[in-house]
Amino acid sequence: MVEAALRSHLSGTQVVHRITAPSPTARGRVVVAAVAAGAFMAAGQTIDHNAVTISGDPTLLASAQDASTAVGLGGPASAPEYLPVTRPADPASLEAVQAMAKGQRLLDERTTQEAEASRVQFVLPTKGVFTSGYGARWGVFHYGIDLANAIGTPIVAAADGVVAESGPASGFGLWVRIRHSDGTITVYGHINRSLVVQGQKVRAGQEIAEMGNRGNSTGPHLHFEVWNPAGQKINPLIWLHQHGIDL
Ligand SMILES: [Zn+2]
Repeated sequence: MVEAALRSHLSGTQVVHRITAPSPTARGRVVVAAVAAGAFMAAGQTIDHNAVTISGDPTLLASAQDASTAVGLGGPASAPEYLPVTRPADPASLEAVQAMAKGQRLLDERTTQEAEASRVQFVLPTKGVFTSGYGARWGVFHYGIDLANAIGTPIVAAADGVVAESGPASGFGLWVRIRHSDGTITVYGHINRSLVVQGQKVRAGQEIAEMGNRGNSTGPHLHFEVWNPAGQKINPLIWLHQHGIDL
């Protein structure tokens, strides 16, 4: 069929191809016709006054190019099937995609850095009623502050750090201690349940325990202590205030 078409064209006989919107089944024939015409005619020329302009239909033209690759002129004359041809990706558009991906990565990194910089560094470790301060109390020295609330109230890390201890402790019932980068240790006592393990990294504001009433305690509350890098138990209210937190 291709050869017949070409022969008739080459011999000067006018070839009439009535190409209208091809149905899927007609597509193979249309493509072959387009190949025959496209191979010997400059784009833009019409086959005749009844035929469509090859260059006027980019889809058809592309089909013709694909088909010429897939079928080849002079191949079997039996009705060829339209074979989609995978074209190699355009290097220019690949670069554009890569550049966009890189731009997005940089944007993500900057967003992460900004989020890190604006992130809360110090947090009040729980919500509750301030019931006892640091100092002498009932004839003994109270080395922390007490914040009372219901059992199960979330207790969070006051600052970034690493869990130094999580477990039972005399008087505290159950406690969590967190070591911070400057050597300061914060202590969370009388907890009902710990949510962290020794050696675990935690972030400021991350829930580490639930408030409880264990140990030497007269009601559900958090006993919060701050040990400075020298190991002295300092007033948590002053330490919190120095880091921008006031009760
Ligand atoms: Zn206390």
